[in-house]
Amino acid sequence: MALLVVPALEPVALSLLPAYPLVSFFAGALLAWRFRRWRVLVATLSLAAAERALAAGLGSWIPFAHVVLAATSAALPLNLTALTWLPERARAVFAGSAVLVAAEALAAGLLMQPEAAPVADVLARPLGDGRLPMIGIFAFAGALTLAALRLVIRPQALECGMFWALINALLACGVAAPASASIALAGAGLVLLVSLIETSHAIAYGDELTGLPSRRALTEALGELDGVYTIAMVDIDHFKMFNDTYGHDAGDQLLRMIGGRLAQVGGGGRPFRYGGEEFAVIFTATVLDDALPHLEALRHSIESTGFGLRGPERSRRHDGTRPTRPIQRVSVSVSIGAAQASRRAAPAHDVLDAADAALYRAKRSGRNRVCT
Ligand code: GH3
Ligand code: MG
Ligand code: MG
Repeated sequence: MALLVVPALEPVALSLLPAYPLVSFFAGALLAWRFRRWRVLVATLSLAAAERALAAGLGSWIPFAHVVLAATSAALPLNLTALTWLPERARAVFAGSAVLVAAEALAAGLLMQPEAAPVADVLARPLGDGRLPMIGIFAFAGALTLAALRLVIRPQALECGMFWALINALLACGVAAPASASIALAGAGLVLLVSLIETSHAIAYGDELTGLPSRRALTEALGELDGVYTIAMVDIDHFKMFNDTYGHDAGDQLLRMIGGRLAQVGGGGRPFRYGGEEFAVIFTATVLDDALPHLEALRHSIESTGFGLRGPERSRRHDGTRPTRPIQRVSVSVSIGAAQASRRAAPAHDVLDAADAALYRAKRSGRNRVCT
């Protein structure tokens, strides 16, 4: 945006111009291929194709320049949005994209027929003084709505990247100068590249099942602790029995539910999935006595709600459809051990071990309690 609208940056923009789109698309495609993110790979290739088409079309040294703009502003948003809805499987992505591109080529071919000229004229004509053709307005409006919906359903880095790449694509199709279009589309490529890096970060530092930060994040957080702080270890009671009785899928659902509760812990507690059915909570700059009421509230909220066990069809459906009504309420509880760092800068791992020892005492003295 800055490169496009700040006049003082024009020399910079012009000197970057030959290399910027090339570097952005090439790096994005390479990274997407390496990470096996086929949707991003195809999206980046679509952006590169659109960049070439607009550079040629807006430059107006080819006949039918308005046709190129109309085709690009219709096909690019359709492609990007379709990709956000496709599953991340190589065959689905490549087959889906091939069908889509073939359908778009067919539609373009039909619209180029003399008989379709009146329709094509209306679709390729811009609205008012703008540059975006009618068909582009329809395509972008639909695409942005669908991409936003996808983002609400799956609020993750790639879906977010696709949405903002669409905004950049809209910008590119609305400008007059081919250089501006190239910069906007290269920006879209950059957005997708950053979303790939964000995804890798989320995979490395987040736990896929519960959505909480992972053990790796905990290790780094422990290294940064200083002064007074409290660490709690939380362990689900009789979880092996729960797994054996209700199945591993139900066990995973329970872990997700407990993870959700931990995410809401008060007192500034930061939860992590330590591993298996064990969690850690760090209370920075908090003495044990101040953390205890929040841990007790956490324990109590889990005990009092229990777990609504859903029918077997629920565990097979991962598509976000409405869950079937709980059919059985099972009581669950957690045991918690907490320890506070002494003022003489104890190593965080020693505090964690002390919390673990307290957890062991909580288990031994009957579970479903907080020990220190
Ligand atoms: P205690 O009350 O003493 O903590 O008993 P427990 O059964 O909870 O503890 P134990 O350590 O014996 O069992 C932990 C179980 O957690 C064993 C393992 O199958 C299960 N588990 C670990 N990770 C996962 C997971 O990601 N998903 C599911 N479903 N189960 C898991
Ligand atoms: Mg355990
Ligand atoms: Mg346990």
